[in-house]
Amino acid sequence: MHELSIATSIVDTVLQEIQRKNLPPVQAIAVRIGALSSVDPEALRFGFDAIIIATPLAHTKLEIEFVPVQGKCRGCDREFSVVDFVFMCPFCQSGQIEVTHGEELEISYLEVAEVEETRA
Ligand SMILES: [Zn+2]
Repeated sequence: MHELSIATSIVDTVLQEIQRKNLPPVQAIAVRIGALSSVDPEALRFGFDAIIIATPLAHTKLEIEFVPVQGKCRGCDREFSVVDFVFMCPFCQSGQIEVTHGEELEISYLEVAEVEETRA
């Protein structure tokens, strides 16, 4: 299962980050998944929930932001949403499209517990 290895790498990355920066407990991990990344958000969530049980992230939520496909026309330079994987410019019908969004597969941010500041 492809999503399980992605979930593993997300968890590993965050655990390293916690250790490196000595972060307080992480409450949520937000990830951005593009429509072209061929990741099934539900399968990813399932894999994530299975992996975190035995880690310090056992109570961490996975927040998935799904990014639709967006393209930019090389002909007329306009940006538009790509619907149903039709890679054609809706303005000038050019097929010379550069994909600007939709291939994302990244951690966008971590939500950590608030730690009360101790003042002298
Ligand atoms: Zn165009």
